[in-house]
Amino acid sequence: MRILVVEDDPDLARQLEAALGDAGYVVDLAADGEEGHFLGDTEPYDAVILDLGLPVIDGLTVLERWRRAGRSMPVLLLTARGRWSEKVTGFDAGADDYVTKPFQMEEVLARLRALIRRAAGHASSELSCGPLTLDTSRGRVALDGAPVKLTAQEFRLLSYLMHHQDQVVSRTELTEHLYSQDFDRDSNTIEVFVGRLRKKIGGDFIETVRGLGYRLAAAEKDAEGAGAKEGAQDAS
Ligand code: CA
Repeated sequence: MRILVVEDDPDLARQLEAALGDAGYVVDLAADGEEGHFLGDTEPYDAVILDLGLPVIDGLTVLERWRRAGRSMPVLLLTARGRWSEKVTGFDAGADDYVTKPFQMEEVLARLRALIRRAAGHASSELSCGPLTLDTSRGRVALDGAPVKLTAQEFRLLSYLMHHQDQVVSRTELTEHLYSQDFDRDSNTIEVFVGRLRKKIGGDFIETVRGLGYRLAAAEKDAEGAGAKEGAQDAS
């Protein structure tokens, strides 16, 4: 998942970048409203963290311009304490959520996770695809309940596919959402990561759709034989 942070306070911007990076996101930073507007207008982000008080173009104007141009990515506003009217105008301008400065980083991360999930149509923090589960709040993946260890890059890839399961996702789209602006992108590396991911979660989940990309879906066939489940008595 790729996040745009528009924040003119360099310390806060770096803190956000570091925390988001630790949480498995790739991050682009913009230090003023003009650059932020341009990036949000031209690059595909999974969510934006937007400060309201920005140089050159203020955050509210940036948000209004994106929405008018049909840019629909989730936007989390950073607002100043006590300025309740900012929140109202922010929501009216198309914001999805806000946090008040000074904030706890954990709250920003939790709100961001929720926005990204909901934008992809998932209400629960645990995403599942058949026996494969991804806990977005803890960053854990399990197969039939057993933990699967993934590298940061593999996790990012799986997370994007899980959020967009049953949809065909092109290599270009994956590249755009898994690498930041500054990264030297090579869509061939996506194939390498898909290959590694298949080895770890099993080959059936990620289908290659020739000429189009990949689709993550639960295998439809009943896997019989190996490892028959004992005492599976789901009430459902
Ligand atoms: Ca500011």
